[in-house]
Amino acid sequence: MSRIGVLALQGAFLEHQVLLERLGAEVVQVRLPAQLDGLDGLIIPGGESTTIGKLAVAYGLLEPLREFGRHKALWGTCAGAIFLAKDIGLDQPILGLMDISIRRNAFGRQVDSFETNLRVDFGGSNGSQAQPFRAVFIRAPLIEAVHGAARPLAQLEDGRIVAAREGRLLATVFHPELTSDDRFHRYFLEMTK
Ligand code: GLN
Repeated sequence: MSRIGVLALQGAFLEHQVLLERLGAEVVQVRLPAQLDGLDGLIIPGGESTTIGKLAVAYGLLEPLREFGRHKALWGTCAGAIFLAKDIGLDQPILGLMDISIRRNAFGRQVDSFETNLRVDFGGSNGSQAQPFRAVFIRAPLIEAVHGAARPLAQLEDGRIVAAREGRLLATVFHPELTSDDRFHRYFLEMTK
Protein backbone atom coordinates (compact mmCIF):
# COMPACT_ATOMS: atom_id res chain seq x y z
CA MET A 1 0.00 0.00 0.00
CA SER A 2 1.30 3.46 -0.91
CA ARG A 3 1.77 6.06 1.79
CA ILE A 4 1.00 9.45 0.30
CA GLY A 5 1.20 12.87 1.93
CA VAL A 6 -1.04 15.82 1.17
CA LEU A 7 0.42 19.19 2.07
CA ALA A 8 -2.26 20.50 4.41
CA LEU A 9 -1.23 24.13 4.98
CA GLN A 10 -4.08 25.67 2.97
CA GLY A 11 -6.40 24.87 0.09
CA ALA A 12 -8.10 21.79 -1.33
CA PHE A 13 -6.13 19.04 0.40
CA LEU A 14 -9.10 17.11 1.82
CA GLU A 15 -10.50 16.39 -1.65
CA HIS A 16 -7.19 14.77 -2.64
CA GLN A 17 -7.20 12.73 0.55
CA VAL A 18 -10.69 11.36 -0.13
CA LEU A 19 -9.76 10.30 -3.67
CA LEU A 20 -6.48 8.70 -2.61
CA GLU A 21 -8.13 6.75 0.20
CA ARG A 22 -10.78 5.54 -2.20
CA LEU A 23 -7.90 4.13 -4.29
CA GLY A 24 -6.55 2.30 -1.27
CA ALA A 25 -3.64 4.60 -0.37
CA GLU A 26 -2.74 5.53 3.19
CA VAL A 27 -2.84 9.32 3.47
CA VAL A 28 -0.89 11.59 5.81
CA GLN A 29 -1.70 15.29 6.21
CA VAL A 30 1.64 17.12 6.19
CA ARG A 31 2.12 20.33 8.14
CA LEU A 32 5.55 19.69 9.67
CA PRO A 33 8.85 18.49 8.15
CA ALA A 34 8.92 15.27 10.21
CA GLN A 35 5.64 14.19 8.64
CA LEU A 36 7.45 13.73 5.31
CA ASP A 37 9.30 10.71 6.73
CA GLY A 38 8.34 7.42 5.13
CA LEU A 39 6.10 8.89 2.42
CA ASP A 40 6.17 7.49 -1.13
CA GLY A 41 4.86 10.72 -2.63
CA LEU A 42 3.29 14.07 -1.82
CA ILE A 43 0.53 16.20 -3.33
CA ILE A 44 0.60 19.99 -3.08
CA PRO A 45 -3.03 21.11 -3.46
CA GLY A 46 -4.64 24.09 -5.10
CA GLY A 47 -5.41 27.16 -3.05
CA GLU A 48 -3.43 30.38 -3.00
CA SER A 49 0.22 29.94 -3.89
CA THR A 50 1.31 33.03 -1.94
CA THR A 51 -0.34 31.68 1.23
CA ILE A 52 1.03 28.18 0.78
CA GLY A 53 4.50 29.68 0.22
CA LYS A 54 4.34 31.91 3.30
CA LEU A 55 3.14 29.08 5.53
CA ALA A 56 5.78 26.71 4.15
CA VAL A 57 8.43 29.27 5.13
CA ALA A 58 6.86 29.76 8.58
CA TYR A 59 6.78 25.99 9.27
CA GLY A 60 10.34 25.43 8.05
CA LEU A 61 9.08 23.25 5.20
CA LEU A 62 10.75 24.85 2.18
CA GLU A 63 14.09 23.02 2.30
CA PRO A 64 12.66 19.66 3.50
CA LEU A 65 10.12 19.78 0.64
CA ARG A 66 12.89 20.52 -1.88
CA GLU A 67 14.91 17.59 -0.55
CA PHE A 68 11.82 15.35 -0.70
CA GLY A 69 11.14 16.36 -4.32
CA ARG A 70 14.67 15.43 -5.38
CA HIS A 71 14.00 11.76 -4.58
CA LYS A 72 10.27 11.21 -4.35
CA ALA A 73 7.15 11.78 -6.43
CA LEU A 74 5.64 15.25 -6.08
CA TRP A 75 2.41 16.47 -7.69
CA GLY A 76 1.26 20.08 -7.64
CA THR A 77 -2.30 21.01 -8.64
CA CYS A 78 -3.00 24.63 -9.58
CA ALA A 79 -1.43 26.73 -6.80
CA GLY A 80 0.65 23.62 -6.06
CA ALA A 81 1.93 23.61 -9.64
CA ILE A 82 3.01 27.25 -9.22
CA PHE A 83 4.78 26.31 -5.97
CA LEU A 84 6.59 23.47 -7.75
CA ALA A 85 7.87 25.49 -10.73
CA LYS A 86 11.30 26.98 -11.32
CA ASP A 87 10.08 30.06 -13.19
CA ILE A 88 6.96 31.96 -12.15
CA GLY A 89 8.17 35.46 -13.06
CA LEU A 90 7.23 36.76 -9.61
CA ASP A 91 8.91 37.14 -6.26
CA GLN A 92 7.18 34.78 -3.82
CA PRO A 93 8.41 31.64 -1.99
CA ILE A 94 8.43 28.59 -4.28
CA LEU A 95 10.17 25.22 -4.33
CA GLY A 96 11.73 25.90 -7.75
CA LEU A 97 12.06 22.19 -8.56
CA MET A 98 10.32 21.66 -11.86
CA ASP A 99 11.72 22.97 -15.12
CA ILE A 100 8.61 24.79 -16.32
CA SER A 101 7.64 28.43 -16.81
CA ILE A 102 4.24 29.09 -15.32
CA ARG A 103 2.10 32.25 -15.15
CA ARG A 104 -0.39 32.88 -12.36
CA ASN A 105 -4.01 33.72 -13.16
CA ALA A 106 -3.26 33.42 -16.87
CA PHE A 107 -6.88 33.02 -17.93
CA GLY A 108 -7.96 36.49 -16.79
CA ARG A 109 -11.10 37.71 -15.10
CA GLN A 110 -13.80 36.83 -17.62
CA VAL A 111 -12.93 33.16 -17.53
CA ASP A 112 -11.84 32.90 -13.90
CA SER A 113 -13.31 29.42 -13.80
CA PHE A 114 -14.28 27.02 -16.56
CA GLU A 115 -14.42 23.35 -17.43
CA THR A 116 -13.21 21.66 -20.56
CA ASN A 117 -12.46 18.20 -21.92
CA LEU A 118 -8.81 17.25 -22.26
CA ARG A 119 -7.18 14.41 -24.09
CA VAL A 120 -4.52 13.02 -21.79
CA ASP A 121 -2.05 10.26 -22.55
CA PHE A 122 -1.95 8.35 -19.28
CA GLY A 123 0.23 5.75 -20.96
CA GLY A 124 -1.88 2.83 -19.79
CA SER A 125 -2.63 -0.22 -21.89
CA ASN A 126 -6.29 -0.30 -20.77
CA GLY A 127 -7.44 2.42 -23.14
CA SER A 128 -7.79 4.86 -20.25
CA GLN A 129 -6.85 7.79 -22.51
CA ALA A 130 -9.71 7.10 -24.90
CA GLN A 131 -12.13 8.96 -22.62
CA PRO A 132 -11.62 12.73 -22.42
CA PHE A 133 -10.74 14.06 -18.98
CA ARG A 134 -13.19 16.69 -17.68
CA ALA A 135 -10.89 19.34 -16.22
CA VAL A 136 -11.98 22.05 -13.78
CA PHE A 137 -10.00 25.32 -13.97
CA ILE A 138 -10.28 27.82 -11.10
CA ARG A 139 -8.25 31.02 -11.45
CA ALA A 140 -5.76 28.71 -13.05
CA PRO A 141 -2.19 29.40 -14.05
CA LEU A 142 -0.81 28.35 -17.44
CA ILE A 143 2.32 26.37 -18.18
CA GLU A 144 3.87 28.74 -20.72
CA ALA A 145 6.82 26.50 -21.52
CA VAL A 146 8.47 23.25 -20.53
CA HIS A 147 12.25 23.05 -20.45
CA GLY A 148 14.94 20.39 -20.15
CA ALA A 149 13.45 17.00 -19.33
CA ALA A 150 9.94 18.32 -18.66
CA ARG A 151 7.24 17.21 -21.12
CA PRO A 152 3.68 18.39 -21.78
CA LEU A 153 1.10 15.84 -20.60
CA ALA A 154 -2.10 17.66 -21.55
CA GLN A 155 -2.86 20.64 -23.78
CA LEU A 156 -5.90 22.72 -24.62
CA GLU A 157 -7.15 22.51 -28.20
CA ASP A 158 -5.10 25.58 -29.09
CA GLY A 159 -1.95 23.92 -27.80
CA ARG A 160 -1.61 25.71 -24.47
CA ILE A 161 -0.03 23.38 -21.90
CA VAL A 162 -2.09 22.59 -18.80
CA ALA A 163 -0.27 19.52 -17.43
CA ALA A 164 3.37 18.48 -17.51
CA ARG A 165 5.68 15.82 -16.16
CA GLU A 166 9.40 15.77 -15.42
CA GLY A 167 10.53 12.43 -14.02
CA ARG A 168 8.77 12.07 -10.67
CA LEU A 169 7.40 15.62 -10.78
CA LEU A 170 3.86 16.24 -12.00
CA ALA A 171 2.08 19.57 -12.51
CA THR A 172 -1.59 20.12 -13.41
CA VAL A 173 -3.04 23.63 -13.52
CA PHE A 174 -6.59 22.30 -13.10
CA HIS A 175 -8.26 20.34 -10.27
CA PRO A 176 -8.58 16.57 -10.80
CA GLU A 177 -9.57 16.21 -7.13
CA LEU A 178 -12.85 18.05 -7.79
CA THR A 179 -14.24 15.41 -10.14
CA SER A 180 -14.90 11.72 -9.59
CA ASP A 181 -12.51 10.80 -12.43
CA ASP A 182 -9.57 9.30 -10.57
CA ARG A 183 -7.22 8.68 -13.52
CA PHE A 184 -4.74 11.40 -12.54
CA HIS A 185 -4.61 10.08 -8.98
CA ARG A 186 -4.01 6.54 -10.27
CA TYR A 187 -1.36 7.90 -12.63
CA PHE A 188 0.37 9.61 -9.70
CA LEU A 189 0.21 6.49 -7.55
CA GLU A 190 2.00 4.65 -10.38
CA MET A 191 4.68 7.37 -10.34
CA THR A 192 5.37 6.72 -6.66
CA LYS A 193 6.35 3.09 -7.28
N1 GLN B 1 -4.80 31.75 -8.47
C1 GLN B 1 -4.19 30.92 -7.46
C2 GLN B 1 -2.71 31.26 -7.30
O1 GLN B 1 -2.17 32.00 -8.09
C3 GLN B 1 -4.33 29.45 -7.81
C4 GLN B 1 -5.78 29.07 -7.83
C5 GLN B 1 -6.04 27.64 -7.48
O2 GLN B 1 -5.20 26.95 -6.90
N2 GLN B 1 -7.22 27.19 -7.79
O3 GLN B 1 -2.11 30.82 -6.38
